Amino acid sequence: MTSVAPTSRGPCDTTPGPMSEAVTRLDAMSEPSIFTRILQGEIPAEIVGETENVFAIRDIAPQAPVHLLVIPKTPQYRNVVELAAGDPDLLTEVVGLANTVAAEYADGDFRLVFNTGEGAGQTVFHVHAHVLAGDLNEKSLGG
Ligand code: 5GP
Repeated sequence: MTSVAPTSRGPCDTTPGPMSEAVTRLDAMSEPSIFTRILQGEIPAEIVGETENVFAIRDIAPQAPVHLLVIPKTPQYRNVVELAAGDPDLLTEVVGLANTVAAEYADGDFRLVFNTGEGAGQTVFHVHAHVLAGDLNEKSLGG
């Protein structure tokens, strides 16, 4: 027989505690990302390319003459490190579609950026590659 460690909170205590805060955080995390909502047609976006597992859209706030986002359809991976570890073939598909749309919407040369973590400017935690192309106007690594 298993025993449950006694707590100060009785079974009918409904005041929020650490567990309910954790559940609230989990709910927030499981809400569809903006990119999933675009993929499902809930939010409009210009789709500029697609493969079986990846799609590409134009960024709503372009930081370069050509600024596209290449996004795995699955929301499973939050950033490129998780994607590389979890599904290297899918990462290869992302890079392939980036190359295709850079050839179609620019001259084929492009910069590929994966912001990884809030401190690096990541705001959407559904992995995506920024494809920056056109006249990038400088030779630094920054955007
Ligand atoms: P991050 O900051 O996570 O690296 O990149 C998120 C990108 O998504 C930003 O460049 C932002 O402009 C773009 N973005 C955010 N919301 C939307 C949207 O509703 N539609 C499109 N097309 N891009 C979006």
